[in-house]
Amino acid sequence: MKYDVVVQDGFGFYCTKKIKQAISSMVESSGGWPEGTSRGSRVLLKVNMLSAKHPSRGITTHPAVVAAVASLLQDRGCAVAIGDSPGGAVKGVERYWKNCGFRAAAEVSGAEMVSFEGSGSKRIDKHGREYDIALPILEGYDCRINLSKFKTHMYTRLTNALKNSFGIVPGLGKAMLHMRSPRPVDLAVNIVDLYETADFALHITDGILCLDGRGPSTDGRRRHEGFLAVSRDGVCLDMVLSQMAGLPWDHLDSNVEARSRGLGKPFEEITVLGSHEFKDFDIPARSYLNYIPPWLGSVARLLLRTAPVANSRCTGCGVCKRACPVNAIEIKNGRAKMKKGTCIMCLCCHELCPENAIDLKLPFGRS
Ligand code: SF4
Ligand code: SF4
Repeated sequence: MKYDVVVQDGFGFYCTKKIKQAISSMVESSGGWPEGTSRGSRVLLKVNMLSAKHPSRGITTHPAVVAAVASLLQDRGCAVAIGDSPGGAVKGVERYWKNCGFRAAAEVSGAEMVSFEGSGSKRIDKHGREYDIALPILEGYDCRINLSKFKTHMYTRLTNALKNSFGIVPGLGKAMLHMRSPRPVDLAVNIVDLYETADFALHITDGILCLDGRGPSTDGRRRHEGFLAVSRDGVCLDMVLSQMAGLPWDHLDSNVEARSRGLGKPFEEITVLGSHEFKDFDIPARSYLNYIPPWLGSVARLLLRTAPVANSRCTGCGVCKRACPVNAIEIKNGRAKMKKGTCIMCLCCHELCPENAIDLKLPFGRS
């Protein structure tokens, strides 16, 4: 029987050999390898490369999972590439490839790394909205596979298959999308547009090391959950994992937006093989920004959006100031000060601060 979603539990640690065996059988249970993965095909693995941190931090797709999938595809005779566009990579992606272990995963599996920043982009129209999309997503590959990380997100509550599509927009384009979508419900529209554009043929979730609480990056709490999940349908996958984690599937804006477009399936009709029991998984509350009426317009967008703020750990070193692409940071009295009106929320400062001294604050003192 073919299952819409396959979940396998019980992974104590990241072992490429064990993961490879498991994914091979999970893919079979979910309908087999998709079209575009036969001998001679070119396959792109879209990973989660959010932050240039060690894979043990639980922020990015673990290289053992990436290497396992790449190796399975190599065994089928495919040529494999690995890529993503991180949030703050205006200074180059090589640091991410090295620190996250993707470069090593490519080397052991015979895959190549592809830079979404360096490959160019193309502007597309999706449902009347414009997006700049990294070229490797639009051309050059017979199949794209989504290798997402399961974790919480302070803004969207959870992030997995659908939200992982956000990285198909290279460079600062992602920051501009955040700017034009001040409420999570608005961002969900963009997320689902990008998910449709990426047209992934297969989705594989790394849920072995996760984050809960203040995810999706360094502020999140690392959790060992020990599961992997596979599906041909990213919407079904997110609906099922959201529900398993304790958040009803229709409390996640991207799921609701996707279902409103007829994507995925009614929850009751999704067939699932296996399960994972989350214990005390701390999911952020629904953002109050969702209750702001959209007609408040651009003034509200500026006033109500999140902004980076340096906390008391700041040493005034100036790393963030040098990295900021729009000169929105000055060092005053030994502490970084971000100009909210100039900031484009690229998160380069948050990513690069050596002291982990930058909080992402919502207005009215919330964070
Ligand atoms: S990089 Fe961090 S520690 Fe250095 S000035 Fe900026 S906020 Fe402060
Ligand atoms: S201050 Fe804003 S624009 Fe500058 S690096 Fe930080 S997030 Fe990016």
